[in-house]
This record gives sequence, C-alpha cells and structure tokens, in this order.
Amino acid sequence: MAPGGDDSSVKVAIRIRPQLAREQIEGSRICTFVTTGEPQITLGKDKQFTYDYVFDLDNSQQQVYSGSVQKLVEGCFDGFNATVIAYGQTGAGKTHTMGTGFELNTPSEQEGMIPRALRQIFDGVHSRQAKAIQEDSIKPDFFISVQFMEIYNEEVHDLFNPEGNEKVRIHEKDGSIVADGLKAVDTKSYQDTMKLLQQGALNRTTASTKMNTQSSRSHAVFTLNIKQTRAAPCNSDEKENKNLDLETVSAKFHFVDLAGSERLKRTGATGDRAKEGISINQGLLALGNVISALGDASQKRKHVPYRDSKITRLLQDSLGGNSRTIMIACVSPSDSDFMETLNTLKYANRARNI
Ligand code: ADP
Ligand code: MG
Repeated sequence: MAPGGDDSSVKVAIRIRPQLAREQIEGSRICTFVTTGEPQITLGKDKQFTYDYVFDLDNSQQQVYSGSVQKLVEGCFDGFNATVIAYGQTGAGKTHTMGTGFELNTPSEQEGMIPRALRQIFDGVHSRQAKAIQEDSIKPDFFISVQFMEIYNEEVHDLFNPEGNEKVRIHEKDGSIVADGLKAVDTKSYQDTMKLLQQGALNRTTASTKMNTQSSRSHAVFTLNIKQTRAAPCNSDEKENKNLDLETVSAKFHFVDLAGSERLKRTGATGDRAKEGISINQGLLALGNVISALGDASQKRKHVPYRDSKITRLLQDSLGGNSRTIMIACVSPSDSDFMETLNTLKYANRARNI
C-alpha cells in the first residue's frame, strides 16, 4: 500500500490552462466547465468525466502543487519512489506545469512543479539534519544526484552529456531500474539542482534546433536520486546505550514531460517524420496500456507490458507497487481544441481506472 493510507498508487489530475491571447483574438470559446467543489469536468454540452483532481484555468501553480504533488515528496524520505507525469497535446501547458522550460527569471509564483518539489526536498533534508543536531542524535547523511534524459524515437539521449555518444541502456539491477551510461551529477543544494535543470533544458532546445526536430515530439525525464543514511529505528534500551545501527534508504523522483499527445497528421508524414510519429505514439500508447494493466492487476491480470517502450521500462519500478505517481493531464479550454481535449480526457480516464 502506498504511503498516505490510500491503495491507489496512480492519481490523475486534469489541469485546464487559461486561454491564450491568440485564442481570444481568434474568437475561440471556452468549452470546459468544472463542477464547483467536485473533481469533475464537462466538455462541451454533455461529456462529463471525474478524476482525482481537477484544476480550472484560474488555479495557480501553488494550488496545483499543494493540491497534488506536495503529498508525494515526504514519501521519498522513507524510500518510496515518486513520479509526476505531464500529459497532453502540444501547447496545453505541460512544460509550464512541470517548470522544465522556464525562463531564468521566472517570477516565483509562476514556478512549476519541479522547482517547488526541489525546494521541499532540500528543506526536508535540512530540517532532518537540524533536528538530529538539536536532539543530539545521529545526523542523517544525504547523497542526492540528478539525471536528465530525452527519449526521442525510442532512443535515449543524455541532456547532461549532449555530445557524448555512449549508448544508454535501461535495465534492472538489484531489483531496481537503472539507466546505464546516463550521467548522474551530484548535487547538494536547491540552487545547484536548478542550475542543472536549466542547463539540461537548454541542451534539449539546442539539440532539437540542430537536428531540426521539435522537442514537443520527445519525452524529457528529470530524475532526482535520493540516498539517505540514517539511524535505524530501535527500542529505547538500544537508544540508551547509543548502540545504533545505520540504515540506507533510497528513492527516486521522476519528473516526466511527455511528448505532445496530438495525432500526427497522416498526410505528408513520410520517411523519418512518419517513423517519428509512430515511435512517439508507441511511448504514449505503451504508457496508457501499462497504467490500465496495473488497474486490471488488482483483478488478477498478470502481464504488465513495461517492455513495450523505453518510457514504460524506465518507470517500471515507479508505477504501481510501493510508489506514488501523479499524472497531470493538461488541456486547452478552447473549442478550437475540442477533439484533442476529448482525446486527453479519455486517455486520463482510462489511466484512472486503477
Ligand atoms: P506544452 O509544453 O504542453 O507544449 P506549454 O507549457 O509550452 O505547453 O504552454 C503553452 C503556452 O501556454 C505557453 O505560452 C505557456 O506559457 C502558456 N501556459 C500554459 N499553461 C499556463 C497556465 N496555467 N497559466 C498561464 N499560462 C500558461
Ligand atoms: Mg512543452
């Protein structure tokens, strides 16, 4: 059972972004309606869906964070993996919500989920260490490293080593999934981690410009590995004698900014473009299948097709089991995006049957 006393490990949130200036100028109308006080959305006249959380177009980053992501962070200190996934069509607000592609001087109220989670994690480290000093007990040590990858055409690229051509291999090692060949950079503070995030995001943009591809077609995964050495829980006798054992607790926090979910236009998509379209759909398709199979697993269905794509293989030990995941499905409020919004709501609805 996941921490927090809730047996469903994948939660689904819908986030509606505000209308963009362009949409207002073009006269698009708002076609999403949130039921007051309920996590329920109606699209158009009568397409109604219920999720774990629904955030309307006037909800702030802080409201989205405290309403959904914040709860996942504390589990990382007790060895539970956490994952935040942003899903949706290009332009629906995935990158804005995650905070991966931010400008250097983003005003703090506009910061996305990653900076907020990082702050909470480093605050958690400092408060645990301060508490130990205050209580004259063993001070926990933390070893934190980050990795940043982009998955494009089912190939993994290291955003911390963009020129490198070492092949990254995702596989299982000692019961957890690792990405061999991917650089892990040690970090000790919120500021350092934010610099790394910015550097990787910049590499992502540069690489896609150079290769004449669009970053909206790739999945970006920013991972925080948290390893902690602390005093193992013990009885009071042992405590008296200061005869304490140490234990190591590890967890990872994945932040996933998925490729745009829009259907690739069939016309004109030939050669590389067509291949691209197919493999991107493969990741999103596989993710949908994995999440839905996990839901069925409670009804004794066994096979979960993690190996059908790189992204699902990577998230294998972070979906289900002793980990917590939140998928934030981002949608546009405008009627010009009606069909894509409907597709996203259906995908998210399937994910929620877990
Ligand atoms: P995606 O990553 O899904 O393609 P973006 O995050 O780049 O979409 O968002 C598209 C545009 O909408 C950007 O200009 C972004 O600043 C804006 N936007 C998205 N969500 C919000 C929001 N909640 N509040 C204000 N602007 C937003
Ligand atoms: Mg984006």
